[in-house]
Parts: sequence; C-alpha cells; structure tokens
Amino acid sequence: MIKRLLIANRGEIAVRVINTCKKMGITTIAVYSDADRNAKHTQLAHEAYSIGASEASASYLDNNKIINLAKKVSADAIHPGYGFLSENTDFVRQCEDNDIIFIGPRKDVVHQMGSKIESKHIALACDVPTVPGYFGEDQHPNTLKREAKKIGTPLLIKASAGGGGRGIRIVRDLSTFSEALELATKEALTAFGDASVLLERYIEEPRHLEVQVLGDLHGNIVHLFERECSIQRNHQKVIEEAPANFLDDGTRQQLFHYALRLANHIQYSSTGTVEFIVDNNTGDVFFLEMNTRLQVEHPVTENITGLDLVEWQIRIASGTTLPFSQKDITTSGWSIEARVAAENPAESYRPEIGHLTFYREPSGTGIRIDSGVQQHSEISPFYDSMIAKVIATGDNRAIATQRLICALDDFLLAGVSNNIQFLKDLLSLPAFSEAALTTSYLTQQFPQGWQAPNHSRIDMLALLTVAYLKQQLNNESIKHSTQPSPWHSLEAWRITGNTNIHSQSQLIFQDVTGEQITVSYQLRNNSYLISIVESTLRVTNVTHTDDTIRAEVDGKLLCFRTSFRQNKITIATNTTAHTYLHLSQREALASNSTTQLSGEGRVKAAMPGSIEGVKVAVGDKVKKGDIVVIMEAMKMVQSLASSVDGTISKVHYQPGDTVEAHAVLVEIEEI
Ligand code: ADP
Repeated sequence: MIKRLLIANRGEIAVRVINTCKKMGITTIAVYSDADRNAKHTQLAHEAYSIGASEASASYLDNNKIINLAKKVSADAIHPGYGFLSENTDFVRQCEDNDIIFIGPRKDVVHQMGSKIESKHIALACDVPTVPGYFGEDQHPNTLKREAKKIGTPLLIKASAGGGGRGIRIVRDLSTFSEALELATKEALTAFGDASVLLERYIEEPRHLEVQVLGDLHGNIVHLFERECSIQRNHQKVIEEAPANFLDDGTRQQLFHYALRLANHIQYSSTGTVEFIVDNNTGDVFFLEMNTRLQVEHPVTENITGLDLVEWQIRIASGTTLPFSQKDITTSGWSIEARVAAENPAESYRPEIGHLTFYREPSGTGIRIDSGVQQHSEISPFYDSMIAKVIATGDNRAIATQRLICALDDFLLAGVSNNIQFLKDLLSLPAFSEAALTTSYLTQQFPQGWQAPNHSRIDMLALLTVAYLKQQLNNESIKHSTQPSPWHSLEAWRITGNTNIHSQSQLIFQDVTGEQITVSYQLRNNSYLISIVESTLRVTNVTHTDDTIRAEVDGKLLCFRTSFRQNKITIATNTTAHTYLHLSQREALASNSTTQLSGEGRVKAAMPGSIEGVKVAVGDKVKKGDIVVIMEAMKMVQSLASSVDGTISKVHYQPGDTVEAHAVLVEIEEI
C-alpha cells in the first residue's frame, strides 16, 4: 500500500489530491516553485519541498528534479494531477525505472494517447469513428495544404501533442491556410515541444460530450457515465455537468459503447476520459481524444456516482481489483461545475494577475469548492488562470443550476479581475435550460462579447480618492511621523487662493495603460466634493476599513474593496479590479512626456509574458494589421499587430526576453 505520496502539481488539483490522501492515511509531499512558497497546497501537505524557480519549466515541468526529490524523500508514489507531467511518457518511464508508482496508466498507453494523431489511428483500428481529416506522418507544408484542400473549409489545424484548447486554429478560407499553419506549428513547438499537426473537418456547433472510464490492473473496465462540456471559450471548458441534458438514450449508449471499446482495446488501467464531439445537426458521434489522467471536471462525476476518483486512482495503482461491475454503478441527481478564473471575460478572457486582497468562498447545501488559493494569495503570470471550481449538486438540473448561481453570488473575491459575474450571467440565460448546449453557446449568447456590468469608472475613482485620502490621514496619525498627509503635501496644488484645508486640491492617478487622471477634491461639512473630468460628485457617509470603502455617491450607496501596496492603490468590485499609481506632480510631468513620444505607433504587451518572435526590424515598412511580434503569455501564443501604417523606429526586445505587462515592444513612426 502507498504510504508516502508526492504530488507533482500545484493549485486546486494538488489540494484536491492532498485531501483524499489525508482521508486514506497517506502522507502527502508537496512540491512548490518560488512563486508558490506560501501557496495553499504548500501549506496543506504534510511535507513540502522547494523545486526551483517560478517558471514551470524550471520547477513543475522538470522531470529530473521531481524524480530526484521523490527518491530523496522516499516517496512510494507520485500523483501528477493534470497538465504539467501528467501525460509525459518520459516521466512515467522514469517513475518505473526508480520503483516509484506513477498514479496513472501504463507508459505505453500514456504515449499512444498523448498524441492526437496516434490515438486517432488506434480509435479507427477498433472501429470508433473519428472526425474526418488528415492524421498522416508526412508533415510537409505542401502535403498538409493538399490534404486541407481535400477536407475543405471550414477546417481545424490541431497540434498533435496539444491540450487545454491550445494549438487549435480554424481556417475558413484556404488562402489563409499557410499562414495559420505556420502559427499553429510554431505554437505547437513552443508549447508542447512537438510541431506535428493534424487537420480535421470543423464541425459547426457541435456538443462536447465525454465518458469517464475506470480500469484496474486486472482487466476490469467500467464507465462512470457521461459529462457535457459544451460551454467553452477559446476551445477551453467553462461549465461542465453530469449528466448531459437533452441527450437521447441511443446516443448516450453509443458514447459508452465507444469509450469502453477503446479503453478495452488499450487495456486501460486508471481513471481516464474519452472525449467526443457530437454533430448537433446529424447526431453523428466522433472520437476526439483520450485524456489519460484526472480531468478538471471530475467532481461532477464524483457527485452523481458517489465515488472518489482520486481514491480509486490510488487504489488501482496499488493493485486493488475493482470491487464493482458496471451494473453496480448508478447515478443520482445532477451536478454542474463552473471554473472560476482570474481573467477578464470582457477582454477576450485575458488572464489577469494580482493579489487577492479579499477572498471568501461560498458554502451551503450541495456546494463543493475545489480551490488552490486563499486570502492574500498572489495570482502570478506563470500558471493557468483557473483559481477555483464551484460545483453545485441537486436532485435535478434546475436545482443544481440555482444553487450554482447562488454560490457564485456569495463568492467574494477582490483584487484580481475574474469571471464570476460572467459565469452567473451565462447560467442565468433561458438558453442554458431550453435546448441542447453547443460549443457556440457563448458566441451566440453574447454576439458582441460579454460586457461587464457598468460600474461607473468615475464612481470608482471618486471612492478611490476618498479611500486614498483617508489612508494617508490614517498613516499619519498612526506613525506620528513627519510624512506629510496629502492635505499638507499638496498645498502647492491648491487651485483656490484659500490656504485652509477645505480648499480645493488635486491628486494625480495613473492607470495601468499610463493614462493620467487628475482628481480635484474638497472637504466640506463631512462630505467630499470630487471633480473628475467634467463630473462633480458628492461623497457622503464614508466608512473606510482596511479593505473596504462604503459611501454614498450622490445619494447612492456603493461599496468597493480597496488595497494599498507600496504606492499602488487597487479598487475592486467582486469581479473587476482597477489598480492606480499615485503620482506626484513631478512624476506626472516626467511620465507624461514619455507617453507622448509615440502614441498609437507603440505595440505593447497586454500582459506579462515572453517574446517568441519579432517579425520586423528597424526601418521596415508596415501596414496597419501586420503582425510585428509574437509573444507567449499565460501559456497562449499571441500575435501582436501594428495599429498604424508606418516605419519601424525601435525594436525593444528580442526572442527569449521576458516582458512586463504594458511594456512597449516595438515603436512605429506613422506615415
Ligand atoms: P484539447 O486537447 O486542446 O482540449 P480537443 O481536440 O479536445 O483539444 O478540442 C478542444 C475543443 O475544440 C473541443 O471540445 C471542441 O469544442 C473543439 N473542437 C475540436 N475539434 C473540433 C472539430 N473537428 N470541430 C469542431 N470543434 C472542434
């Protein structure tokens, strides 16, 4: 039996595995990168060991480091979680070579299913239909182009080693095929170390349905029913549920049949997921891929079957024979999971980083939270943006949905922009219950993109100003120091002749894009008159604690979270966080003069990341829309284009450089 288990992962899945191990009396050994020294999983495990720098390649993805550590601390087994090393054949082999149990299937199965190309050949060999396309070894661009013509448009280019929705490109017009192929192979090589791609017919508006399987080392394999994961953004799952709604029994049985046929064919032994897409128009079922690990969405299956999948993974790896057969497994109720991510759904789901200034998870009947963060966690740019999963279960779908919406409503999370409001909105639409879901759900329901509720920026700035002033006064009275409060330090800024502190003064804030906002304020009879641009607002009845400001703005009660770190001030609703810098007049003048240098002709990094390619050199002529830089940020490859016609005047970075959010990468002199 396994006594000491090392978890080669982080975040919610590491915490999830630790919880089951504790229940089973297994000693848990966490590993952590520099960025995760104070992370939740590091704190919860019995033992925790540093494995290096924050970049995943230097820590969580470093096979040798993890294997050496496992030997040093006498771990009998390694649980890889999902992502990172979970589908890395070399790692599974290294575990075997060192007599460490890998919690997952055999290495040959990991290898076969890790390649989308090879797995499709295996599926076809056992009569499981796949999406029509090209899965050949010949990867010459001319061959691929010829095959693309045969398949016709729309088609998909997919990285064979891809995962997590990355490395997928849709081609709707064959004239753009070569360019898309270049980007896809580049992305495949960077992200997965393997440039091979496959081509597939693009099915419009399919459903994503998948079957959980469980096999032991003695040839017994069962399925644990289906999950629906059709609500996706950027080919990545957002909402998952079990069972699937509006699924006829014939199709359901077909899915189980194909999943078991494939799992038996490869003698699968662990938890695994066979993914399918189902053409909503024809009802055709196609095998997509098999994931040889635990899935993010495994809790919904656990909730309807009552089985702990991590416990079964561990038991199977220890040699236990499945004590139940297919007919013993039943389901009850309905379970829906929502992925809470530090991202901005109003800005193409851009990942966000920051400090969780306030964090309180919901609870209640039927609510389960699997999370990897806690109050004051840092959301860094190094890993996936998912921070928690809210899973709601009830007797039926309507109850589960309502519980999920309520739980999201009670989830208090400030300091980092996140998708909680977006999740609530998409679950509350009639379309969520009226018909079968498809992968086009989000684009159909939010054709212009999802818009955040309109919290007036002016209101937020007014309260930010008041919070800042209160904080300064507070600091002064606590410290009794000589540090001047803004009431005094800003004397030079008074724009009335009056020298008492009720006169009008100004503060300058700079937002993350470099834009400066001048706010004038006056304190009169316990109320503040705040002027921003053209508006003047009266702020009254202010209560300001360390992390919250509550006040009436022109008679309307508003409440925001605030935090002060160095000279940065963050003001946040439950879903949106805005960070500003307070600038002195001198700083404001200095910063303004650099901003004006190049205006629109600057290509900036939208988020922290690394430069993958620079497509231009000084002196090159570019047109608006031309790609100038390719960067990788939050594990996504982004092509950054010029927004003007002009000549390249400066190139600030080279491939391999890491850049901060909003860094200017290339400057273009407009023609
Ligand atoms: P990954 O391993 O990155 O998750 P998948 O092959 O599983 O990649 O595909 C991810 C998602 O992309 C699917 O769930 C589906 O929404 C979409 N997709 C993949 N293949 C097709 C296809 N041939 N037609 C339409 N959509 C597809």
